[in-house]
Amino acid sequence: MDKQLYYENVRNLKGIGDKKTERLSSCGINTIGDLLEHYPYKYRDRRSVVPSSSVIVDKDCLVAGTLLRISSRPVSGRKSLIECFFRDDFGRFTAVFFNRTYLRRSLNIGEKYSIYGHARIRNGMLSWVNPEIAEFDSSTDKRGIVPVYRCTQGITNNDYIKWISQALDELEDSDWLDEDILNNRKICSQYYAYKNIHFPESELHYKTARFRLIYEELLIYQLAIRLNRMSIDTEQVSAHIEDIDIQPFIDSLPFTLTEGQVDCIRQIEKDLIDAKPMNRMVQGDVGCGKTVVAEAAIFKCVKAGMQAAMMAPTELLARQHYSRLVDDFAKHNIKCCLLVSGLRVNERREILNKIASGEVDVIIGTHAVIQKDVEFANLGIAITDEQHRFGVNQRKALVKMGRAVNVCVMSATPIPRTLAATVFGDMDFSVIRHKPRNRMEIITRSVTEAGRERAYAAVLNELKKGHQAYVVAPSIDNDDDLASVEQLYDELNRKFRGYQVALLHGKLDKDEKSAVMNDFASGKIDILVATVVIEVGIDVSNATIIVLENCDRYGLAQMHQLRGRVGRSEFQSYCYLVNYSKSDTAVARIEAMKKYSDGFMISEEDYRLRGPGDIMGTMQSGNYNNRVIALCGYTEILNIAIDDANTIISEQRGHIIEHVKNRMNMIDDNSNIL
Ligand code: ADP
Ligand code: MG
Repeated sequence: MDKQLYYENVRNLKGIGDKKTERLSSCGINTIGDLLEHYPYKYRDRRSVVPSSSVIVDKDCLVAGTLLRISSRPVSGRKSLIECFFRDDFGRFTAVFFNRTYLRRSLNIGEKYSIYGHARIRNGMLSWVNPEIAEFDSSTDKRGIVPVYRCTQGITNNDYIKWISQALDELEDSDWLDEDILNNRKICSQYYAYKNIHFPESELHYKTARFRLIYEELLIYQLAIRLNRMSIDTEQVSAHIEDIDIQPFIDSLPFTLTEGQVDCIRQIEKDLIDAKPMNRMVQGDVGCGKTVVAEAAIFKCVKAGMQAAMMAPTELLARQHYSRLVDDFAKHNIKCCLLVSGLRVNERREILNKIASGEVDVIIGTHAVIQKDVEFANLGIAITDEQHRFGVNQRKALVKMGRAVNVCVMSATPIPRTLAATVFGDMDFSVIRHKPRNRMEIITRSVTEAGRERAYAAVLNELKKGHQAYVVAPSIDNDDDLASVEQLYDELNRKFRGYQVALLHGKLDKDEKSAVMNDFASGKIDILVATVVIEVGIDVSNATIIVLENCDRYGLAQMHQLRGRVGRSEFQSYCYLVNYSKSDTAVARIEAMKKYSDGFMISEEDYRLRGPGDIMGTMQSGNYNNRVIALCGYTEILNIAIDDANTIISEQRGHIIEHVKNRMNMIDDNSNIL
């Protein structure tokens, strides 16, 4: 594709001003390329109107009918409900709308409307709840396969459709991939792929486009890890540190290390005394005890006279690590400092000076802050926790910090072992397989709508013991979702009078978010109603129960991550999955959650269950790591990509390599965390 256009700011499109630019940016969309890669997470098949007699219940479809009558009534609180009765040539059906009283005024009896949405049977009648409604054959009554986009805060789906069509119009039909590769693999052009992933004419067009995009993503990743490995191997800087005995640290721990922790620490020690820079990923399920492994590595470096940096994706996690390391290292005379945004200028300057002079040994902070402008006296190791960024760039950024440094990445994202070598091909890999023995299994139960009260009775039970609870709702895709999270919050506030209930979601600003999290951590809040923002690494050991509402909306791996928020103490913990869906995958996921407590088993199962339908949603999620990991499940395409990556490197196809390098820089600059 036209390289220029790809990197051009979205502002250059018609209809995008300052405000929309800013909103798009908060969704991680800055350039026209980002916009083109903001793939739909689903489609509405509005190709043809279905006769009401042929509607399949529990599926989405488009019907059209004449409006016969409207009735409305208030429901609980400030909410209202209107019900519309329709007829087509084949029968009658209804559509129910909550909180859309304005419809009453804009709909006309006797007029024909099209209705799109999830069909169900309600009071014995074919019915839609909160469907899309449009005047039949009007400009808003679109025909065809219509894309549906995520991230709609202040941006409508139609905005996306308009802007992406515009970008596609300006796009040239050129390609960064060589023709021989495309022909060889029967891969469509990039232009075709973008066009048909957004506006597919048919299922076949869509699949052809998807194949190319998955292939492309995997090829870029495979090339990136090869280039990265090559650059590490040629760095030729000695990263050797003195072989210090870490036993004093081990002896000072209040527990015995697990076998997995011991093995992992041993591998890290070997890496550290080797002249070649360490580049290791430590992988272990939530709660397996990765932090102490990091501490052992830090201890060894510091006692050898070097500094250590420990980075977390969020400020909250950074603070959590800081207080832990301060406690554990106090008796070893190791000095820690915390570097986060929002420090007073003087405070910050003082800390930076101490780091530059070597007065402090361990620097803990967020990725962004540490990588920005810190100068180290002599950095021996950089550890990044819960890494949600792309390993390749991570390392590059760290190397920029001064010297070839030993890098250790800790991740709880479970990936099948068979894939680890491929996904993290530029890294060495350690796995901490088992959790410390003192843990009780989390009891996992599922309930349907009818049994929902049982979940909340269990919550009350835990609160009475002085414990805390999480209630999780799916992430907010649109205003309806926001309303449903707020509704849930209202409901729980009423249900749990006398207890503190708080709401946390991605649309709160940073300060609000951290205030809520701090209050939860300090026990001021009893129930935290949250969207999946709590997925990453939060450690509140007094929380012993988590309820996942609408659990069919989460992936299996995601549910497992969420469950890992509890079970962090000697108390029995519980996970309740509230399921409203009858779909086979939802049920299979729940069964897997009940059966397995091990993240690796879960991830194997996840790959087995994951339908291809999920994949474009994953591809447009801001989390590059998860995206690549998910894509690697496409082993056939992966193998082709590996093959072609090897060819491209061995034949030194410069223009392709250049493209990959550019793309890597983009990901580095734009990836947004949380
Ligand atoms: P994660 O791998 O999810 O980062 P942490 O490092 O936060 O896990 O450890 C979770 C908890 O387990 C911490 O409170 C830690 O002190 C404790 N822990 C770590 N290793 C052991 C062990 N070998 N025995 C008992 N408890 C341990
Ligand atoms: Mg951790």
